[in-house]
Amino acid sequence: MELFDVYSLFDVTPVSAKGCRITDDKGAVYLDLYGGHAVISIGHSHPVYVKAISEQLSRIGFYSNSVRNPMQEELARRIGALSGYEDYSLFLDNSGAESNENALKLASFHTGRDRVIAFRRSFHGRTSGAVAVTDNPRIQSPFNSCHKVTFCELGDAAGVEAELAAGGVAAIITEGIQGCGGINLPGDEFLRKLDELCRRYGAVLILDEVQSGYGRTGRFFAHQWAGIRPGIITMGKGIANGFPCGGILISPEFKAVKGMLGTTFGGNYLAMAAALAVLNVIEKENLVENARTVGEFLLKNIPASPLIKEVRGRGLMIGIDFNVPVAELRRNLLFGRHVFTGVAGQNMIRLLPPLCLSLAEAQEFIDAFKTLI
Ligand code: PLP
Repeated sequence: MELFDVYSLFDVTPVSAKGCRITDDKGAVYLDLYGGHAVISIGHSHPVYVKAISEQLSRIGFYSNSVRNPMQEELARRIGALSGYEDYSLFLDNSGAESNENALKLASFHTGRDRVIAFRRSFHGRTSGAVAVTDNPRIQSPFNSCHKVTFCELGDAAGVEAELAAGGVAAIITEGIQGCGGINLPGDEFLRKLDELCRRYGAVLILDEVQSGYGRTGRFFAHQWAGIRPGIITMGKGIANGFPCGGILISPEFKAVKGMLGTTFGGNYLAMAAALAVLNVIEKENLVENARTVGEFLLKNIPASPLIKEVRGRGLMIGIDFNVPVAELRRNLLFGRHVFTGVAGQNMIRLLPPLCLSLAEAQEFIDAFKTLI
């Protein structure tokens, strides 16, 4: 049997990794400014993380959500305290798309409505509901068209209000910063306007923080730069540093009903050991502050060039927007200078490194980047 061939692959085979470095099967060492797509939050194979998962596995690896798992309660307490959402509750699942799916479902249960407003250039995942609110016709199948979704332009408050006024809107869903769509910041003022509109029209504001959350932008969640408190916040990626895990934070106005949401693997022991270890390291090593400091350094020091239209982002979520396609530059960074980077569309290099990236490693990238452009 062969693999279903849906991924474009680079011919690199990582066999080990530590911190922000990856080693391949030929012994070459790479600087990781991609983090497996914003997943590696505390760095590869952190000793605290490795120990926590190994020890947990030797005790108990899995049971089900029909029994009490105090690690879930501890995680809820710790995320609440670190993010400032102590009064919210946590539902645990397995991925970003599943978190968005649960958020959309919950908003619909709560309001009794079925329409959703999403934004142009959004990406929310690959399950049916998550794809339906993603603005990319290439990944939408006819099956997704059963959902009632209206796409508005990011920043167009009047357009959003007109849709809300038309009625039936359960939720507005937006990323804290659009990732796959090209590091587009919604703007603090616009987020505050969405928050106000949702309250006025009785809709739920869902903040997809799957990519932009968990410290990446220099605050625990990207929307916290705008000072708002959305109805539901969705998480994934960095929450367990690569162990599959997701979750949603739910405002106190939502009432839990038995059986309303559920999952087999969500909140399992290994994921909880991984997620608690991640929080321990984030706190002990001040990684949210580090993301802010090193991100500011990168934003200031990425060199200007006639080839570059704009450098934008917050913390360690940065897009370098070129006037020209970047595929060759990205290959040269990887194979010529041994630096992993991400991409958005044809023209953007996207940086999503582990939150422990040091200033020296950031400088190393800038030096490599300068020589290539
Ligand atoms: N939401 C955002 C903003 C994402 O960037 C992604 C993945 O890239 C997802 C949701 C989907 O997450 P997952 O692939 O874990 O389902």
